[in-house]
Amino acid sequence: MVVEIDSQSGFCFGVENAVEIAEKALLKGEKVFSLGPIVHNDKEVERLSSLGLTSIDHDKFRNLKNCKVLIRAHGEPPETYQTADNNNITIIEATCPIVKRLQSKIKQTWLRTKEGNGQVVIFGKPGHAEVVGLLGQTNNEGILVAGPEDLGKIDVTKPVYLFSQTTMSVKDYNNFTDILCSRMKENGISDTEKNLIINKTICGQVSNREPNLKAFARKHDTIVFVSGRESSNGKMLYSICKTINKDTHFVASPEELDKSWFTGKNSVGICGATSTPKWLIENIRDIISNI
Ligand code: SF4
Repeated sequence: MVVEIDSQSGFCFGVENAVEIAEKALLKGEKVFSLGPIVHNDKEVERLSSLGLTSIDHDKFRNLKNCKVLIRAHGEPPETYQTADNNNITIIEATCPIVKRLQSKIKQTWLRTKEGNGQVVIFGKPGHAEVVGLLGQTNNEGILVAGPEDLGKIDVTKPVYLFSQTTMSVKDYNNFTDILCSRMKENGISDTEKNLIINKTICGQVSNREPNLKAFARKHDTIVFVSGRESSNGKMLYSICKTINKDTHFVASPEELDKSWFTGKNSVGICGATSTPKWLIENIRDIISNI
């Protein structure tokens, strides 16, 4: 049985950068807290925790003083930095540079349009850490939409500045913008190019993987998709594989592998999310190879 790892799977640049920053700080022997799990992958969180990285939630963060706290790749809203200032907390900045740029663009757009009648709209998952950070740039005045069911939140007669969370599906975003555009036209806005500013802010590290992943899922009899269950892009990339190859199985750890998946199969492909560590994918490859 051939067992192949998808060459593009493993950490994206932003997560790799955050993990490296954490490792460097831990190597100095310092006590470091991570505001939220550094990555949506329990196995990697466990590994870094064994090196001394402690995950905390926002309640605990607000009560800390005089320590070092790492901001993970998803980024944080401005109030987090304010709390750090008030409590003499040193921030270890590991926000992905792509997310940082998006935060800044949203902030500038919000400041520019808030006196007029423009609306900053963010297409993303409610409660997702990156989305919380993005909305924070608008003083939480931006409009969050998760899909066409939220169109009612937007006043389609006023200008819309649309942004997407970096890990959303390109297909879903395009679908949403098409429906929004039609709704504006139905409401008498003929110049939608001027009144609907679509910012293409889905990260290439996710969107570029879609076509490659489809070809990979088609190529193998069985696909094992490795990801933490909380990972937003993990769920999205898994569903892409599943659509192409019904014999796709989601696992978060080697213990979830089921031998029966591989009976009578000639080839198995292993892939994962942008938050799945390469070492975990290789570990799963070795176990499957030995079955
Ligand atoms: S998916 Fe893209 S934007 Fe998000 S952390 Fe990774 S590199 Fe950064």
